[in-house]
Formats: sequence, C-alpha cells, structure tokens
Amino acid sequence: MVFPSALAVCPLFLYYQIMAFTFFNTAGREKQLFTPLQEGKVGFYGCGPTVYNYAHIGNLRAYVHHDILVRSLRRAGYEVNHVMNITDVGHLSDDADDGDDKMVKSAEERGKSVLEIADFYTQAFFNDTDRMNITRPSVVCKATEHIADMIALIERIEKNGFTYYAGGNLYFDITRFPSYGELALLRLDEQQAGARTEQDKNKRNPHDFVLWFTKSKFENQALVWDSPWGRGYPGWHIECSAMSMKYLGENFDIHAGGIDHIPIHHTNEIAQSEAATGKKPWVSYWLHNEFLVMDKGKMSKSAGGFLTLQTLIDEGFDPLDYRYFLLGGHYRSQLQFSMESLQGAKNSRKSLIDKIRSLADKVGSPANGNGEESRYIEAFNTAIEDDLSTPRALAELWGLLKEGPATPGALAAVFDMDRVLGLGLETACGDGKKDEDEGFAREIEGLIAKRAEAKKARDFTTADKIRQDLKERGIILEDSKDGTIWKRQ
Ligand SMILES: [Zn+2]
Repeated sequence: MVFPSALAVCPLFLYYQIMAFTFFNTAGREKQLFTPLQEGKVGFYGCGPTVYNYAHIGNLRAYVHHDILVRSLRRAGYEVNHVMNITDVGHLSDDADDGDDKMVKSAEERGKSVLEIADFYTQAFFNDTDRMNITRPSVVCKATEHIADMIALIERIEKNGFTYYAGGNLYFDITRFPSYGELALLRLDEQQAGARTEQDKNKRNPHDFVLWFTKSKFENQALVWDSPWGRGYPGWHIECSAMSMKYLGENFDIHAGGIDHIPIHHTNEIAQSEAATGKKPWVSYWLHNEFLVMDKGKMSKSAGGFLTLQTLIDEGFDPLDYRYFLLGGHYRSQLQFSMESLQGAKNSRKSLIDKIRSLADKVGSPANGNGEESRYIEAFNTAIEDDLSTPRALAELWGLLKEGPATPGALAAVFDMDRVLGLGLETACGDGKKDEDEGFAREIEGLIAKRAEAKKARDFTTADKIRQDLKERGIILEDSKDGTIWKRQ
C-alpha cells in the first residue's frame, strides 16, 4: 500500500480511497474486505451496557474495541454514525428470557427506583469510558425512550406471521425463520436450551424468545407500558433491532458486541429484524470481541466479585494504563488479566511517553514530512487495516520511536497514529512540557531568592556564582529597584 505520509495529518484527505480494511466477519467466519453500503459512510451499532451496576473491566474491553474501530474508520475519512443503546428495561439475568430482571433486582436491593438506578449507572459508565479516552457514540439511545419504536417493530413481525401468544407473552416462532441460528452455527437439533435455567413452559421451541412480556415474576414491575398485547414490557433483544434501524436504516454496515452475544442476543436480533423487513442480510459485518479472563475464567458481574476501573485507579493505575494493556491484545483473542501484567503496561506507557517527550524536545513542533517516517505509518496502517491489529500497530509506533528518524515529521506521525490508538499522547507530551516548564520556573525563582539573600548578607561570591551558573544555562538576570526578573538568552 502506498501511503503518502504528507497526508497523514491532513484530515481533509479521504483515506478510504487508499485504506482497505478487512474485518473478521462472524457471519461467514472469515476476514472480508470492508465495503460499506454507501460510499464514504459507515453505519455502526455496538451493543451498550445494561445499567444495573458498574461496568467491570471486562465489559470495558468491548467499548475500547468499538472505539478503535470508529477511530480507524474516521481517520480513514469515513463519516461514521455510531449508535449505542442503554438497556434500562427488560434484561433478565439469563439472556434466554429466564431469571430475574437485572434492573428491578438491583433497584430492590438498593432501595431505589429503577430509573434512579439506570441514571446513576449510566453516568458511572460514561465516567469510565471518558476516563479511558473512549469517544462517545454519535447517538446514545435508552430502551425506555424507544418503547413505541419497539412496539411498531413487533407489530411488523406479527403481521408477517412470525409470532404466537402464550401465557400472556408474545413469542417469536423460530420455526417460521429457517435461517435461525446461522450466525452462531447453531445445530438446533442438538441444542438443549433450558439446561441452564428453568424452561419457559409456554415456549413451543426452546429457542423461541419473548418479544413482549405481560406476565412478570415481579408483582410490582415498575416499568410497564400499554401495548396491543397487554400492559407489560419488551423482551431484551427487540430494543437493539428497533433502535439500530431507527438511527441507521433497515440495513447497515457493522454490528459489534462481545462473543457471548453470538448464540442468543445477536441470533435473535437477526431473526426478528429480518422477519420484520424481509431484507437480508440485515447487517453486513458482525464483529465480536473475546473475553478478558482472570484465573482462566470469564469476568462477569453475575458471577459476583469483579474489578471496576475505579479499583484499578485505587491501585495506583491511570485509566490509560488499562487502555494500553487492552491494545496489547488483539480483540479476537482472549486476554489474561493480572495486576502484574497491568503493571507491565503501565511501565511501557510511561517509557512511551518519555520517548515522545524527548523526541519533542529535540524537534520542537510536529510538522508534515515525507521522510523515513512514512515507512512506519504505512506499516501501522497495514496493521490496522488487517482486522484492527492493535498489537502490531503498537509495535510500529515503538519501532518509529526506537529506530525511526528524530524529525518533526516523525513526531507528526506519532500523533497521527494516536488518532487510532487514543492514548492521549499529544496531551501527555504537552502536559509533560508544561510540568517541565513550571518546574523549571520554580527552580529559577528559588535561585533568584537565594541570590537576593546572599547579596543581603554581603556574600557576593555566592550571588555572582548563581548569576554565572544561570547564564551558562541560558538564563539572564536583570536587576531593578522592584526586584530581579529572568529571561531566556
Ligand atoms: Zn444488543
């Protein structure tokens, strides 16, 4: 790939004409060249949080993945419409319609209303993602504010003959949808749904799922709405179909989420969306991130005992240390977390920033160049184009700093790479410079005070030595009746 680095810091240039992304598409299980439905534009939906508790650090991995995707596409010149839902109703502790309602249970435990819980944890979520330098989505949509859209979509599904009503709930009938389970490569005959939890006796098939509940195990279900099927609340999966199509159109480019969403949540989203519109495929590319694992187990809230970003901060880490740690693993590989490996990431990020600061000290400001650094940008782009390989992209950044030229062009290249990585390198570099400047000024002021004291004590040898030492460091002192000022030579 030819990548003129002079363009690397020019946001107006349309890179999508140059960059060729390939993504591993779960639908098809292969890397595929990315071609959006509309040239230059990308519609992207990433499943958002269920706001009944703090996000654990494993959840945050998914949002860093979404952020890298969005940043890469935007840097390449695409206009990206990134939509994310907030689940504040209807998500049961088991994705297959069983168990407790997560929101209701959390509200009961904490003696708050469901909406208070939702607001509190939504803010906590964005507080975490902001601290990790995760770009906020273009559209954040709450399930409770889109009930009418969900009802309208369910009506279309019903009209097309894909539903049945049983025991007070409206179900999706998967036997009417022959391609059910293709995304997950499900072998329906071998599946034993309900093995994990109590089975819903109203279901004709274990994989059928609820579109609308009117029967809740909670007598005082706080959030209920009128619907053609009775007063109740939506099944969890319908919100993602309804809201993604509302903001991105009936077909769109990319849908992402954790791999745990493949067998049920995303499988059901596809079935109900395509049943409503009849337009296949609903989504062109499905991207799924692997888990963060600790002690060989998936980290999860329902399993109890989990780490939050705040836990890491309390342990002395910067949220960006954790971001750096995550970028060190490819999003489709399991990543083993430990405090030791996070410490390693912290040390690496610190030496990365030190290296960039010393480059900045040498070359001053970044400037477009077209020198040796373009080789590193080209390799960086190749890594990102290849299914967002952040470990290889990071290695190219390190290569540039260790072996590349010390030029303003190299510094510009570092900051350009960080438009994808999001490690806040330009700010860190600027802060470092500011800290240094402030520290330097404090030191000079201290010496001036010492010199004034020496003069007062008629110790002219010391006073002259201080003036001479400063002169050698390029600082000139000017005495006046109001005191002494200093300036650089
Ligand atoms: Zn979803």
